[in-house]
Amino acid sequence: MALDSKIPNGPISDKWTNYKDHINLVNPANKRNLDIIIVGTGLAGGSAAATLAELGYNVKAFCFQDSPRRAHSIAAQGGINAAKNYKGDGDSVYRLFYDTVKGGDYRAREANVHRLAEVSANIIDQCVAQGVPLAREYGGLLDNRSFGGTLVSRTFYAQGQTGQQLLLGAYSAMNRQIGRGKVKMYNRHEMLDIVIVNGKARGIIARNLVTGEIERHSAHAVVVGSGGYGNVFFLSTNAMGSNATAAWKIHKKGAFFANPCYTQIHPTCIPVSGDHQSKLTLMSESLRNDGRIWVPAKLEDAQAIREGKKKATDLSEAERDYFLERRYPAFGNLVPRDVASRAAKERCDAGFGVNKTGEAVYLDFAAAIKRYGTEDAYVKGLDDKDTALVTKLGAAIVKSKYGNLFQMYYKIVDEDPYTTPMMIYPAVHYTMGGTWVDYNLMTTIPGCFSIGESNFSDHGANRLGASALMQGLADGYFVLPYTIGDYLAPDIKMGEISTDLPEFVAAEKEVKDQIDRFINNKGTHSVDYFHKKLGKIMWDKVGMARNAKGLTEAIEEIAALREEFYKDVKVPGSANEFNQELEKATRVADFLELGELFAKDALHRNESCGGHFREEYQTEEGEALRDDENFAYVAAWEYKGKPSDAVLHKEPLVYENIKLVQRSYK
Ligand SMILES: Cc1cc2nc3c(=O)[nH]c(=O)nc-3n(C[C@H](O)[C@H](O)[C@H](O)COP(=O)(O)OP(=O)(O)OC[C@H]3O[C@@H](n4cnc5c(N)ncnc54)[C@H](O)[C@@H]3O)c2cc1C
Repeated sequence: MALDSKIPNGPISDKWTNYKDHINLVNPANKRNLDIIIVGTGLAGGSAAATLAELGYNVKAFCFQDSPRRAHSIAAQGGINAAKNYKGDGDSVYRLFYDTVKGGDYRAREANVHRLAEVSANIIDQCVAQGVPLAREYGGLLDNRSFGGTLVSRTFYAQGQTGQQLLLGAYSAMNRQIGRGKVKMYNRHEMLDIVIVNGKARGIIARNLVTGEIERHSAHAVVVGSGGYGNVFFLSTNAMGSNATAAWKIHKKGAFFANPCYTQIHPTCIPVSGDHQSKLTLMSESLRNDGRIWVPAKLEDAQAIREGKKKATDLSEAERDYFLERRYPAFGNLVPRDVASRAAKERCDAGFGVNKTGEAVYLDFAAAIKRYGTEDAYVKGLDDKDTALVTKLGAAIVKSKYGNLFQMYYKIVDEDPYTTPMMIYPAVHYTMGGTWVDYNLMTTIPGCFSIGESNFSDHGANRLGASALMQGLADGYFVLPYTIGDYLAPDIKMGEISTDLPEFVAAEKEVKDQIDRFINNKGTHSVDYFHKKLGKIMWDKVGMARNAKGLTEAIEEIAALREEFYKDVKVPGSANEFNQELEKATRVADFLELGELFAKDALHRNESCGGHFREEYQTEEGEALRDDENFAYVAAWEYKGKPSDAVLHKEPLVYENIKLVQRSYK
């Protein structure tokens, strides 16, 4: 099957407008005749559900949590980008487009990214209209801060809780539609398969997670907004429930999976503390606005710190190596995440790490506290040479910007980040890969759409900070509502789709068979036992740095682990009850397949780009070395029975508006 990305013709800045002007529309009366299933009610799915119901469609929305408010989106901390140019610092739609394509190391589709930049400003207006309390400056205007990979301040935020506030906005909009009966909400329901009738997505099979009942649901189109697959690594900053099942199930039924190896390892996470940990915690990238990243300049100091003989605060400025500022003077601490993560790893691998395991660097706020405190003392007419006063004033300002993050750090690490630098280390955070979609956000299954983190679309090989919330809300509020109408227009007279069709019966049977298999397996090891093993293979061999030997081994090891899993996994309890071990088993079964495809994709991509770093392909200075001649394409994999048999399809990436050069942040 040939990939058709359906990018409209014409100049890039006119494509979206022209497209909207010429698509098929569904009149308001006919929208009432059309049902849409939305799997996932995070920022992407929630905003889509609210908007489609407002337009008049009948929406059935599903989430596995007890409320849409608990979607992983709620954890988003730092902010959301938009090209508003409120700071007057030179921002524009073009610059946001350019930064995003460059940040993605020239592996994103130009047309989609430009559209994203165009609608970014509407998102902020929409959210403000909903009452989302984005931070404001003293004069009442919305405030902005900077994020990595840009030279402007375009990030809107709500302290360190931006995702929470945005999700409450989307949830309120959706709740209004639940109240009107236009959205039927299925909490604690997990989609376990898609139903395809005559080549089109017409429904899903879902498990009621409370009663265990298997249910059939039909619709004229299915939208998947199920989030990312970072938990394939077991340890990540994602919510523990985040999983790949919905995306993987549609992949197995015909949706191509694009660029699975593009994973983002975030530089500022609280380091791993031991073997029994099940979750990692992010310290938002926004902290890099004010925090300076460093390690001791001398190996003996690093060793003394690791052994507890010295403290960070014992080292003078001259004894510190602010390695990002040294290597990337133009962007400094605000280089993109992939660059910052690799630089931290490089220092730790060289022996400069500062925690017991040697896998941590410092994120230090002393300079910011002093700077803010001095300015505040000056403004208030107080003594700006009084160190204690300046520190007190400065700490209060830092608290007002990042207070909840500092509190989280204190609670987890039991050290006060106002007086001693935070310790941070890179951790798995976001997945740029996902189901392949065309310009309409439709997968290769007609009628099955994918939005938000679950699709591959806008971030290329590395996502810039604060761009995921932007993309999820762009997809849900401003893109899908147009494109899905174009698809649904011919179906207005079709009527309700029966769930008695043989395709529903067959899909339901498949789901029940898998569940029965797990319940009756009676093995000896828990699901987590296998998940942790998978995570270790992924981190060691498919993680921050990859090479052909390690990837080849990983592919074999994951396949063997999958076999062992099916032979020996133990799932206690029964199918007809609330059974979280069973939920985990179905999710880990999918991770065990996805992990293999992930490694296969990484092995075939003989270049380094963004978050995909192949040790064989790097510059003399250790930067990612792309091969545009051979790899400027989206790798879209077609399922053929098992991950090892997946067939590669290539969507060439054509850059007409941005010149391809090796990325530099110096
Ligand atoms: C700690 C942290 C901080 C972040 N901070 C930022 C930030 O500051 N700025 C930024 O831009 N991005 C940030 N991100 C990234 C961003 O939060 C996510 O990419 C984004 O929220 C994903 O939204 P989503 O709607 O696509 O998916 P999610 O919010 O993950 O929602 C997925 C939904 O799908 C449902 N679901 C999944 N599978 C199924 C199934 N099989 N059946 C039924 N329902 C299912 C879930 O119940 C949920 O409702 C952060 C990420 C993390 C981990």
